[in-house]
Amino acid sequence: MTASTKKKTILVAGGAGFVGSHLCDVLLADGHRVICVDNFQTGSMDNVRALRNHPDFKLIHGDICEPIIVREQLDQIYNLACPASPPQYQADPIHTMLTSVVGTANLLKLAEKNGASFLQASTSEVYGDPEQHPQHEDYWGHVNCTGPRACYDEGKRAAETLCFDMLRTGRVDARVVRIFNTYGPRMSPNDGRIVSNLIVQALRGEPLTIYGSGEQTRSFCFVSDLVAGIVGLMNVSANPGVPVNIGNPGEFTISELADLVLEMTGSASPIKHLPLPVDDPQRRRPDIGRAKKLLDWEPRLPLSEGLALTIPWFAETLDLKLPKQRSTTIRPRSERALAAAVHS
Ligand code: NAD
Ligand code: UDP
Repeated sequence: MTASTKKKTILVAGGAGFVGSHLCDVLLADGHRVICVDNFQTGSMDNVRALRNHPDFKLIHGDICEPIIVREQLDQIYNLACPASPPQYQADPIHTMLTSVVGTANLLKLAEKNGASFLQASTSEVYGDPEQHPQHEDYWGHVNCTGPRACYDEGKRAAETLCFDMLRTGRVDARVVRIFNTYGPRMSPNDGRIVSNLIVQALRGEPLTIYGSGEQTRSFCFVSDLVAGIVGLMNVSANPGVPVNIGNPGEFTISELADLVLEMTGSASPIKHLPLPVDDPQRRRPDIGRAKKLLDWEPRLPLSEGLALTIPWFAETLDLKLPKQRSTTIRPRSERALAAAVHS
């Protein structure tokens, strides 16, 4: 912490999750006090175990759908509480919707009471199965409001509405980040998302599951890049008053990702095609012009470098050996896509 930076007390809802736990690490390393609130629905005590004895870290086991009571005077609130993986958020869809709507309203009230700045973790899912590509923040999206993804997509859209109404009415300094697919160490091996599924399957020598043709695309951001972006948005002096995309514009088909994982793990796993889930978005890539302009932010790690940090973490966590023939020089099938990730 620099001499000019005041020590803040910061609440992180969802702080025991994948992204939230990395955020807690960064905030503590910056010299702040951190209060983590989590119901452990998809989070894990392992993610915050190393912080339990930190003098500036406090853990509250609680659900944001209930009013959150904290005695400390809060300077900032980050709301990351919500399952992010489709099978996890669809497992209890009503609770997912309430987490985004009632939970966000509860935390906004807490922010108002404390005069705290508020950052809402929104999502590229607000664009649904997009008809515009890449997705700029001004695009209103293409969401099926009655489909199985709606509990998440519409919940997050409603949470954005709450944030901007609280901002417009002068009640809370609320900021909204739209997060695109993020990966890295501490993703739950069982949560069902593509990067964790493929790595775990490759390391176990099981078939790599590709839903549909594998031609659908996603753009993958390493977790440290994401956390730098959301901390940047929370602390930029003038509230942008508009949502900000944070993601890596390097766009890959799911088949390209599977090939890259096979190369980097040295796995001989076969590919197994399964049906495409209902309403699965077919293309996704962030336009990050706004983040570049307002936050001077852009991602640093291309997919190959992020995977090189992620694969060994899964191998160690699951006590699985990396096959000996694992390539050290990474030559993904699509050199073009990688170059785009590096130079975008
Ligand atoms: P995650 O599932 O690992 O973490 C979510 C955390 O929130 C977990 O610790 C979970 O136990 C907790 N939680 C869920 N519901 C809660 C509730 N009602 N009360 C208290 N705690 C609750 O997911 P993640 O990948 O770390 O995502 C973090 C946030 O970022 C989420 O809000 C998600 O919607 C958003 N996001 C993530 C991604 C991504 O690719 N990781 C993409 C878009 C948006
Ligand atoms: N997917 C896949 N195999 C898996 C898991 C996911 O082919 O084992 C696909 C999924 O259908 C989607 C993409 O990978 O097209 C990304 O899925 P994920 O659940 O990670 O996130 P989403 O962006 O859909 O929320």
